[in-house]
Amino acid sequence: MNSENLLIAEWTGPYGGVPAFDKMDLADVKPALEKGMELKLAEIDEIANNAEPPTFENTIVAMELAGEELKRVFKYYGILSSNVSSPEFRAIQTDMAPIISEFNSKISQNELLFQRIKAVFDAAQETPLEDDQQRVVQLVYEGFAMNGAELDGEAKERYAAINKELSGLYTDFSNNILADEEDYITYLTQDQLSGLSESFVKSAAETAKENGREGKYALTNTRSVVEPFLTFSDERELREKVWKTFKSRGDNGDEKDNKELIAQILTLRDERVALLGFDNYATWRLQNRMAKTPENAFKLMNAIWPAAIGRVVEEVADMQKVANRLGHNIAIEPWDYLYFAEKVRKAKYDLDSDEVKQYLQLDKLREAMFYVAGEIFNFAFKPVPDGSVPVFQEDVKVWEVNDKTTGDLIGVWYLDPYARKGKRSGAWATTYRSYTSFDGEKTVLASNNSNFIKPAPGEPVLVSWSDAETFFHEFGHALHSLSANVKYPTLNSGVRDYTEFQSQLLERWLSTDQVINNYLVHHKTGAVIPAELVEKIKKAATFNQGYETTEYLSSALVDMMYHTLDDPSGIDVEQFEKNALKQLNMPKEIAMRHRSPQFGHIFSGEGYAAAYYGYIWADVLTSDAAEVFAETPDGFYDKEVADKLVKYLFAPRNSIDPAEAYRLFRGRDANFGALMRDRGFPVPEK
Ligand SMILES: [Zn+2]
Repeated sequence: MNSENLLIAEWTGPYGGVPAFDKMDLADVKPALEKGMELKLAEIDEIANNAEPPTFENTIVAMELAGEELKRVFKYYGILSSNVSSPEFRAIQTDMAPIISEFNSKISQNELLFQRIKAVFDAAQETPLEDDQQRVVQLVYEGFAMNGAELDGEAKERYAAINKELSGLYTDFSNNILADEEDYITYLTQDQLSGLSESFVKSAAETAKENGREGKYALTNTRSVVEPFLTFSDERELREKVWKTFKSRGDNGDEKDNKELIAQILTLRDERVALLGFDNYATWRLQNRMAKTPENAFKLMNAIWPAAIGRVVEEVADMQKVANRLGHNIAIEPWDYLYFAEKVRKAKYDLDSDEVKQYLQLDKLREAMFYVAGEIFNFAFKPVPDGSVPVFQEDVKVWEVNDKTTGDLIGVWYLDPYARKGKRSGAWATTYRSYTSFDGEKTVLASNNSNFIKPAPGEPVLVSWSDAETFFHEFGHALHSLSANVKYPTLNSGVRDYTEFQSQLLERWLSTDQVINNYLVHHKTGAVIPAELVEKIKKAATFNQGYETTEYLSSALVDMMYHTLDDPSGIDVEQFEKNALKQLNMPKEIAMRHRSPQFGHIFSGEGYAAAYYGYIWADVLTSDAAEVFAETPDGFYDKEVADKLVKYLFAPRNSIDPAEAYRLFRGRDANFGALMRDRGFPVPEK
């Protein structure tokens, strides 16, 4: 391997070293990964074969230190996969997925290593270590036990083989969705554009041109195109076609069809957890989550579900009235929902989303987030001069983050704002380096990524209210990283049904007076957003919650139903989905947000498998915590509550059990009444 492979080299430059994003070379990826894995395996072997008796230092701390090189490679790998991907890189990914899986199995199934971890764990049950050390030992031990470390012989081999097979199926699943999103383009002609906004039409024309169909208007089969089209297009037949095409991703009965893959994935997952003695995947998965059991997750979802579908009945009735009044002789179908909901929104709340946009400038929103970070986290953000920190694309900007009082360096924040080819859709946050102190204090390198349309030079980026919320949301993830105060890397790990809480909570600051009055100003006149408009936005906040909650919760419930099956082998996915929705009494006017064949959250990997409920679980905490602020005289800027928030719910990351951390903040467990109030649902008695 090239000794100058930059992907593995130590980070140099300012801020304790930063990734050399400007020098990434695809030719380096494979050799860097291979070398990184080799180095880590050697370190792990050394720990496992240590002749000394196992101790916290020579086992747990040594493991926390191992694999630095590989960690660095994976940071670049993540950028190449999410921010600047290409067919060439995707081919490398396909090759490497099973190799990485085998590598992981070699560590998680290293018997000698596990014996040492277990010895440290057992000793710590007798004589507890310091709190943070005790927590690391527990998390590391549980991680190994959950992942088959105690298996031997045939079972162990089978376990690793299943994981390897799954890693390939996950890649296939997500590639099939991607292909159906790219391949199914609907072309419109000039006379089919009624209702669509000027900017939407412009970008559709641009896409058609890119595809060699100049003069036409192209609708790609992705959510960011389909949803605005369904909301605004007056062409009902086209809406139906576009809706059906979108909801059929991975479900077209061709070689890209995902249904058979789902059956294989579920069967393999079930077999794998059976090797560990678990009845089903969900029970295994939830043991170290905040919810603890599938029953607890079901209990919450089932408590909210009747209110959600009850609200849908009201929403449909409202829409039917509007449709009748406008002379449409129709019954509301799924492809009508967003369209007529928008009409009701205008009639009921007189809220014009385009008018709101004029006051939501991306740069101002960013300044608003910095203001909030200053008030709540005591952080100051200062732009880093172009060129001093390498970036992977010229639009990426970088800020230095300091403690407002002491001036101490906290870290660096990267923002990659614009959509482009090769960048995955949506918005997300990542951390290139997390804070730890066990091996010298590290500065944090946090990042936010979104897909705003890049404006012409000198023009502002105007965004919708919900995109502004998402922008704040992702910044919440970044603040969660920047405020971390943990000693060991393992304590930075996320808990899936808790990790959206911090980010969801941060969205709440968008509609505070301080932000509204100082940052939500008209892009031309500079006038503050009118109070009546804000009032309308707030009133409309519970609007369409029947739709939103139902489309989300149906997906979360079906996810949990799949993963609590006794025996998924031979499952007929199409029939299962149908039956599940029937059993739930799913309103016929709404489809799951992610139908099974396109449910990448749960089938492109294991990140959200039996875990999609996590968003609403975390939202219960969000609503409940927001009420604490709302009840103080200073509202969301109350210093005392803010200090407690940072101290208990942000800084500790996973060094305290999340349920316990929440109790320290709130003085009790969260209950879901606040969430029901936030969504405008009736709060059940008792
Ligand atoms: Zn999030």
